[in-house]
Order: sequence, then C-alpha cells, then structure tokens
Amino acid sequence: MSHDTDRKFDTLAVWAAEEGPFPHGAAVTPVYGASTFAHDTLDEWHAIAIGQAVGHIYSRNSNPTLAVLERKMALLDGTADAAAFSTGMAAISSALMALLGHGDRVVSIRDSYGGTNVLFEEFLPRYGIQVTLCDTTHFEQAEAEIAKGCQVVYLETPTNPTLKVVDIKRLCDAAHAVGAVTITDNTFATPVNQQPARLGSDLVVHSATKFLSGHSDVLAGLLSGRADLIKKVHHFREIAGATLSPEGAYAVLRGMKTLGLRMARHNSNAQSIAEHLAGHPKVDQVLYPGLPSHPGHEIAQRQMSGFGGVLSFVPSGGDAALSTVLDGLRLAQRAAHLGGVATTAGPPKVTSHVELTPAERARAGIPETLIRYSAGIEDVADLIADLDQALSRI
Ligand SMILES: *Cc1c(COP(=O)(O)O)cnc(C)c1O
Repeated sequence: MSHDTDRKFDTLAVWAAEEGPFPHGAAVTPVYGASTFAHDTLDEWHAIAIGQAVGHIYSRNSNPTLAVLERKMALLDGTADAAAFSTGMAAISSALMALLGHGDRVVSIRDSYGGTNVLFEEFLPRYGIQVTLCDTTHFEQAEAEIAKGCQVVYLETPTNPTLKVVDIKRLCDAAHAVGAVTITDNTFATPVNQQPARLGSDLVVHSATKFLSGHSDVLAGLLSGRADLIKKVHHFREIAGATLSPEGAYAVLRGMKTLGLRMARHNSNAQSIAEHLAGHPKVDQVLYPGLPSHPGHEIAQRQMSGFGGVLSFVPSGGDAALSTVLDGLRLAQRAAHLGGVATTAGPPKVTSHVELTPAERARAGIPETLIRYSAGIEDVADLIADLDQALSRI
C-alpha cells in the first residue's frame, strides 16, 4: 500500500485505495449505506468526534465508501487529499464559498462552465466578493488582473464548449506571486490527459458526472489538492451538506477503474472525427485542441498528454442545418451531457449556455449553430459514417 505512488496511472486506477482486505473478502469496496455509525463506548465515540481516533460518526461528515473514493482521487491527481460532493457544481460552489469571504476578490476566465459563470456573475457578488472575468486566452490581461491582488484564481481548460486552452502553469505562477489559491476545473481533460496539480494548481475540481464515472448513471463532484485547503472545504461540506451518497461513490469508483482505457478511446475517436470534419465540405468550423490549426494547440501539447473526447463544430447552412444534422444523428444522444461511453451531441444554445441571450453568446464567441459533440467509445468508423449521413441531409 505504501508503494501506491510509484505505480503507473492505469494500475493506480484499478488498485489505489482499494487493496483491501474488505469484510468477508469482498472483491470490491462495499457500499456503506449507513447514515450514522454506532460506538461501543462513550469514550470511543468522543475520541472519534474530536479526531483523536480513526472512525466515522455521521455520513454527512465522513463515510467509509467516500473515504476510499477520496483517497483514490488524490492518488490519481497526485495530490495530498480529496473530498467528494453530490455534484460537480457542489464541489465548485463549496470550494469558492469555503475559501472566499466578504471583501475578497477572485480572478477567472469568461469561458468557465455555465453554472460556474452564474456563481461568478450572480451569487458571489451578493456576498461582497468581487469577481473579475478575463478574456480566456488573453494571458497578459489575466496576469495583470491577478497582479492587482486576489485570493483565488479559478481556471478551466479546455473550456466548454469552444475548447479554448488556458496556460495553467503560467497563470498559477502569477497567482502564487500574490499569494492567491488556484483552482482548476479538469473535467474535460481528466487526470489521464492533464494533471493541473503538477502544473501548480492548488486545487483540482472534477465533475465526476462526466468522464470519471463515464456511464451517465450518477451525479458527483470531486475536489482534490493541498491538505490544508481540502480540510477547509471539507468542513464547509459537513455544514452545507452537499455530500456525495455512498451509492454514488460506488458508481464513480467503478467507472474510475476503466478511466485510462476509456480516455484512450475517447481521445482517438475525437481526434479522428475532428480531422474528418475539418476536411468536410458541409462543415464551416471545427474546434478541437488536437488540431494543429487550433489556436491553443501548442499550449495543449505542452500541458496535456491527450486532447480529450469533446469537440465542437459548425455545420454549414445556419439554423436549418443545425436541426437537420442534430436530428439526423442516429449514434448520438441529443442530451445536455458529455463524457459517457455513448456519444452525446447538443447545441450550447440549448444546453450549457441556454441562460444567455444570443448577444451574450456572441460575446462569449459561441456560434448559435455550434454543435458540441462528445465522442463516445463506439467504433470510430460507425461514428464518422453517422456524421456523414447526417451532414448529407443538409
Ligand atoms: C458538467 C460540468 C460541471 C458541473 O458538473 P455537475 O456534475 O453537472 O454539477 C462543471 N464543470 C464542467 C467543465 C462541466 O462539464
């Protein structure tokens, strides 16, 4: 067990934190559905309650199944500790609420996930927290804003849905120069393709609803990073209560074991499809960091070992073409989701960015007829044939 960190990613994905032995010789981590834990004596109970003995009191605070998931996440991210939440947004909002207070300032990017953006624009200012959102790829602007002083720098890369690439190390260095804590949303990349903690991010957040669990059957969020920061956010979770269920933790643990295998296929499928669509006469634009034509390709090559399973494209022919192509896809679920084994597709204007007006979407650089396509793990020849038949209907 002590050699966990010497092992390669795919080995850790299977074994880390799950070497057992489990009760009855069970082959997998048991689901401890108990809401509470009983103690033999008051002394034992008290020792656990004040942190002098190892154990569990109440599952909002800690639970054995969650503890295994949290340990596994930390080992896969190369961090000291982790905490599990009921959704990705619960992890993000808990981290921001736990680390920021009245009078503080956070610097972030314009292209963060839709829900995160709402926290920045609508909620945090209500609590007297100043939010500055910089142009996502204008790093000089971000550096200048960070240098003015802030408590948190919040990053996300590649971004949703336009796949912009943010230079993690560069902005983490700028943040640390003013003593700010850095948080990076790594949902699109996963730890297989990108390890923000190794690039200087103090905290890493994942919507485990997406690739980490991978089977579209659970909502979950994970936060990993520096032990002192995780402790603060964990304390907030105990009180605010957005704890993951033990059943949810089990589903994420099961998915994580095949993360390396799945990401290899997601990466290669998305790359082949992006290259195919880039040369397609009925496609106006393709956004994918794995294409040499992508403006963030060089940074992506430096900080990522794979370019991920999500790409976006604009079919030629406006609104009519958008419906024709989307409705014509047979091997894609039309859904507000990504990262599952089954391909999903949807336009940001009805999914991640539905709350924005057309003018706001235009300002965010999101074409009205953009299709976000999360390549599943199906045979890529079938996916390309499906896209071709859908595009041929235009
Ligand atoms: C989906 C998503 C989230 C939110 O996660 P939920 O589990 O849906 O709450 C956050 N960030 C990114 C990049 C996402 O794709």
